[in-house]
Amino acid sequence: MDEQGQHSVEIRSLYLGGQWVEPRDPIYVIDPATGKVFAGVGTVRREGVARALADAQEAWPAWRRLTGKQRGEYLFRIADALAHYGPAIARTLTMENGKPLAQSEGEVAMSVDNLRWFAAEAQRAYGRIVPNQVPGKRHVVVRSPVGVVGAIAPWNFPLALAVRKVAPALAAGCPVLLKPASATPLTAVMLAEAIDHVGLPPGVFQLVAGRAKEIGAELLENPICRKITFTGSTEVGRQLIRGAGPQVKKLSLELGGHAPVLVFGDADLDQAVEGTLMAKFRNTGQSCIAANRVYVDRLIYDKFVSRLVARTEELKVGSGLDDGVEIGPLIDEDALSHALEQIEDAKQAGGTILCGGCRWVESKEGFFLEPTVLADVPPTARCMREETFAPVVPVAPFEEEDEVIAAANATDYGLAAYAFTRDLSRTWRLADALEAGTICINDSVPATSQCPFGGLKQSGWGRELGTEGLDAFLETKHLSIGVEA
Ligand code: ADP
Repeated sequence: MDEQGQHSVEIRSLYLGGQWVEPRDPIYVIDPATGKVFAGVGTVRREGVARALADAQEAWPAWRRLTGKQRGEYLFRIADALAHYGPAIARTLTMENGKPLAQSEGEVAMSVDNLRWFAAEAQRAYGRIVPNQVPGKRHVVVRSPVGVVGAIAPWNFPLALAVRKVAPALAAGCPVLLKPASATPLTAVMLAEAIDHVGLPPGVFQLVAGRAKEIGAELLENPICRKITFTGSTEVGRQLIRGAGPQVKKLSLELGGHAPVLVFGDADLDQAVEGTLMAKFRNTGQSCIAANRVYVDRLIYDKFVSRLVARTEELKVGSGLDDGVEIGPLIDEDALSHALEQIEDAKQAGGTILCGGCRWVESKEGFFLEPTVLADVPPTARCMREETFAPVVPVAPFEEEDEVIAAANATDYGLAAYAFTRDLSRTWRLADALEAGTICINDSVPATSQCPFGGLKQSGWGRELGTEGLDAFLETKHLSIGVEA
């Protein structure tokens, strides 16, 4: 840091009105593996967001007039640019978010695939012709873009969850302002570089960063912004819902989760253990669809738990840039304290720590937690009711299918649920009964470009990806035409 308290690191620019702007009042970005600042990004104040919205509005008519195929061609080229710069983007993603490099590479690949999916979907904003009831009339349903979109992304999948918003908005014919999380703005800058590289018309895509509340307020209160699409906490989702009231602003919200894992006695035990590890520990447990609580049939409980502990103890913890690391740091010190509090609470409630349970001290710096397994955790423990967002697995036994389904659904969240079973009839019963937007049977990595993703109950409104992902940025109009019989 210099005498003015500024860090001597590279400060990246925001992308506004088709230009890279001189960075001001930077946000500093911390590598969670070291706790040290390594870069920064300029910010905008509320007037800057208002200007960006006005520029987006100006860009809208020409952008929406392009055919879906033409917009799709831009998206295919953005996908190619993202793939080309992929290795550098993955490295930056790991540095600002902490996730193991292989997972960052996976996130880039998933984002490229999302872009290609929406590039093709751009041509499929189908309407329909509806048979008339009254002679001398014709009815057509047509789709049109909602207008200028504000996209607010979180830090846990900073690239994928930005692309999942930006790509369908652009495909549908909507200009978009992207606001990344302050912890992870660098990946968004690299996405902006890929977009700039293909020469998208100015104002069609813009990158804003800065104080979340201020940017959020402008998006909510400025009538140019017709829709906000958001991934983040349920609490901020509620604030957006309140703020959207006066203008009845459209919202898509992907909020918190509290995914249960149900391991039935007929499951393939190895598959169930490996699947649980993946569902829990991917992204160091910091995923909204992360397994938060594991219920295991009492018949196989001891066997499952001992295998889970053995495999958890093998997980390699460290900086995401180091070879073979499977568990990186948490995003910040608060996240680590939150996880340690939940572990302590589970212990107080009667659970037993079978492995982990403490700050990982092999590294003298950064925000690492030992991967933790807790057994016999009662339903009253906080980790069985609240989001954990850390590599902590609480396990509890169950006896009956009905009982475990009721436990799985006993939450205000409804984003994802996992089950391991080889019983086909049970699979269908679970599909009917589990209250979750994504239900995984013998699977732990469900998200894919062509299927809808989103939550029931307080996990959100609307869906991303799939055909639904494009629908989210389209209005439906009924065209009623009187014709001579
Ligand atoms: P997380 O748990 O991922 O930090 P948040 O909901 O706090 O979840 O943040 C998700 C995104 O929402 C981030 O980009 C953050 O800056 C932004 N955000 C936080 N508060 C607000 C707000 N009041 N209005 C708009 N965006 C917000």
